[in-house]
Amino acid sequence: MALFKSLDSTESNESKAQNEWPDVEPEKVKCLIIGSGPAGYTAAIYAARANMAPVMYQGMEPGGQLTTTTEVENFPGYPEGVTGPEMMEDLKKQAERFGSDVRWGMATKADLSKRPFKVAIDDKSVIEAETLIIATGATARYLGLETETKYKGSGVSACATCDGFFYKGKRVAVVGGGDTAAEEATYLAGLAEKVYVIIRKDYMRASKTMQKRVDNTKNIEMLYEHETKEIYGDNVVQGVRLIKRRGKPDEEEVDIKIDGFFLAIGHTPNSTVFSQFITTDKEGYIVTDAGSSKTNIPGVFASGDVQDKIYRQAVTAAGSGCQAALDAERFLGEQE
Ligand code: NDP
Repeated sequence: MALFKSLDSTESNESKAQNEWPDVEPEKVKCLIIGSGPAGYTAAIYAARANMAPVMYQGMEPGGQLTTTTEVENFPGYPEGVTGPEMMEDLKKQAERFGSDVRWGMATKADLSKRPFKVAIDDKSVIEAETLIIATGATARYLGLETETKYKGSGVSACATCDGFFYKGKRVAVVGGGDTAAEEATYLAGLAEKVYVIIRKDYMRASKTMQKRVDNTKNIEMLYEHETKEIYGDNVVQGVRLIKRRGKPDEEEVDIKIDGFFLAIGHTPNSTVFSQFITTDKEGYIVTDAGSSKTNIPGVFASGDVQDKIYRQAVTAAGSGCQAALDAERFLGEQE
């Protein structure tokens, strides 16, 4: 059987990929959840308990960003802490216990122009959903260095609130010059002995208030016009080599001894599949009504980091997943 419907031969391969739908009978579901971080699983728990028989697709990174974290110590209810992967496994079990259908697969296409909403999974199957909860999260940006990947989880982190505690009394560096970098640097300065902020330009992009906070913190040192060359260490991070004023006549290499290297160069919300229909801000974050998970399309809800660039915590994502399931349940109730 042909996988795709035949197309106009004048279309480019790219536009074909956008328009082609698997030639299969759609599966009809009441509530489809895309994404399996704390937002997606919490939505699944609530939706299952409300008899919505949710079907969840886990996405590219089952368990979401928390699976790349080691210890989670700030999620309420775990007095001894819990590892990210363990917590996600527990959430999965809890969602399945109430009948959520948790599946492997990624949403590759969506047609949200009318209800039921149509979503293609892995370009192989099609789901027709009465309600859709988007919980696809955001992906932290990395510099793309080989050594950065090598030390991920052993001194390299993209979340100061998650991992900062392990650097009490130590020396750390934060790379980036935006609000996140400023916020993470001031947070880390409360724990670490010394915080370097590595900024590629000769100014910070962060808001004036945030910059002032950074400037007024004694143990933060700004390294303007510095770029990261490589991170080094024996098994764990011990230092970072920087290039000062790259490309300029007085370019030089700088070596700083640190125990932790924090990325704060932005996140990319995973909203592309839906952005043709869903209102996003200029950075791609899904816009929701204040205090709810409602998007511009009635019946489509968004929760977690795909719609939150401010808090980005597991617990806030879980809370918004709960809101999304309750909003979806109420929406279905209003349709009956
Ligand atoms: P931003 O995009 O604002 O800033 C990213 C920073 O990283 C910039 O300084 C950029 O440098 C730098 N950068 C990007 N790529 C590289 C690279 N390859 N090497 C070195 N440096 C790099 O991201 P943020 O996460 O800081 O903020 C995202 C949004 O969220 C913003 O709108 C921000 O205002 C908002 N926010 C608000 C908060 C609040 O209100 N409390 C808290 C956190 C974020 P350059 O300037 O040279 O491009």
